[in-house]
Amino acid sequence: MSRQLFGFPGGIVLDDHKDRAAENPIEWLPLPPLLVLPLKQHAGLPAIPVVTEGQRVHYGQLLAKPAAGRSAGVHAPADGEISFIGLHPVPDDSNQYQPCIGICTDETGAHEEEELVDDVCLSDDDLRERIAQAGIVGLGGAGFPSAQKLTETPVKWLIINGAECEPYISCDDRLMQERAPAIIEGVQILARLLKPELVLFAIEDNKPAAITAVAEACHETNIELVVIPTKYPSGAQKQLIQNLLGFEIPRGKHSVDLGVVMYNTGTCYAIARAIAHSEPLLRRIVTVTGDAVDRPGNYDVAIGTPIEYVLQSAGLNPNKLRRVIMGGPIMGIALNELSAPVSKLTNCLIAAGPDELDETLAPRPCIRCGDCMEVCPASLLPQQLFWHIESEQHEKAAALDLAVCIECGACAYVCPSQIPLVQYYRHGKAVLRQQQQERLAAQQAKARFDAREQRLQQKQQQRAQRKLAAAPALTEPEPVTVAAVVVTKNDAEIDASKPVIAQHNDRLADVLAAAQRAKAKKQQTDATPPESSS
Ligand code: SF4
Ligand code: SF4
Repeated sequence: MSRQLFGFPGGIVLDDHKDRAAENPIEWLPLPPLLVLPLKQHAGLPAIPVVTEGQRVHYGQLLAKPAAGRSAGVHAPADGEISFIGLHPVPDDSNQYQPCIGICTDETGAHEEEELVDDVCLSDDDLRERIAQAGIVGLGGAGFPSAQKLTETPVKWLIINGAECEPYISCDDRLMQERAPAIIEGVQILARLLKPELVLFAIEDNKPAAITAVAEACHETNIELVVIPTKYPSGAQKQLIQNLLGFEIPRGKHSVDLGVVMYNTGTCYAIARAIAHSEPLLRRIVTVTGDAVDRPGNYDVAIGTPIEYVLQSAGLNPNKLRRVIMGGPIMGIALNELSAPVSKLTNCLIAAGPDELDETLAPRPCIRCGDCMEVCPASLLPQQLFWHIESEQHEKAAALDLAVCIECGACAYVCPSQIPLVQYYRHGKAVLRQQQQERLAAQQAKARFDAREQRLQQKQQQRAQRKLAAAPALTEPEPVTVAAVVVTKNDAEIDASKPVIAQHNDRLADVLAAAQRAKAKKQQTDATPPESSS
């Protein structure tokens, strides 16, 4: 019984141009004299080198350890010597020089496969550790470190993404056709660690040979193979989940929050190699196609191989070459520097000829046809997003859920005015990200200022308290009453009925008399001779 599919909005059916490369078996590409390993081939911070220039390194050796966060280690795909650690062109949309490690190779790269390890003997923790150590990232393009998706909490659905939906690309198709048992071995390892209730393996219906191979490999497993209609972008994570499970991942949530974990077929294959052969991620399958290569196909390429070397190996005809695109024709990027190497994320190289993928037509004004809205798989309003971003009203674009755009390019593909819509969306997102960072920085600066003010106030209070504590203690003055001053023994004898003047005269007389007595006493004392001391 076939599984019910729920579909997703929008999408387009494309002329896929896959046959030229997909019909040839995977070909192993010899090592180049120089490998260049970018330190950032994943979602997070660049890896940190653990080797030095001039050092000899060996096949599979760790060259750079993962940094904190979503980072992954980088390993040597061959024996050789570290020729440089420094900036070099890399194959990403920045088209900039980034930190890389160069290896002068001195061998062919052919290695005897090691004995298979019986992974049943390994504990779950050991399996997780082995996958983390292997530097495996999502080979579908996201570059998320695979080990970090191996949550300890059991998930409900494990989905294997075999929907390779963009035109020209056929590396996963060929991998499934030729190496399905190893892929399924990787899926079983993931299933053991994630303990899902259901494992679904989705393949588009334009890959009949891959469907057959995977179906055979899945036999007597609990993996359910699901054949889905060919429609772009059915391989995008959110759209595939919606199609298979019937619900959307809400904005701000990750699929794992809803119990779904997804892996690409190439990633499953790399995981199987990491466990069964103790092999880090050293090579990957790259589709090489386009009118300017004589031998289009899928090549098993050492990571770090210069793109120019790959194209030449596939029979590049420089006279025909108009431009090189890495990735598919819709979401891929044009490469300026062919000395940039194949990275973990390089799935396809299109050497386009003179009449191929011509996007040189100048954009014209929007005619409000609404075609872009019809095909948007995220149910957005692409033309309105475009207007807001064009007029620098980025907040309005944000309010229309710009963040939900998966940059699939379906809208730009159908736009009759040739407007490069995705470029506008990328620009809009970058501006909003920048504004958010500035807001955050301003908030942090204010928090620091407030904390400083508070500290100063506290210090002032403490100083005042210390001063107070150090001052001499003051005794309370005795309360002085008028009565205490005036009442004396003689005062007591004063007749209160007398007038005040008379009372004063009486007191004066007393004082004079006392003075007379004291004077007489002193005279008497002076007249008395002192006693002999003998
Ligand atoms: S690029 Fe964004 S706006 Fe355009 S169709 Fe895809 S999701 Fe929709
Ligand atoms: S498809 Fe192009 S021309 Fe038509 S509404 Fe969208 S942006 Fe405008």
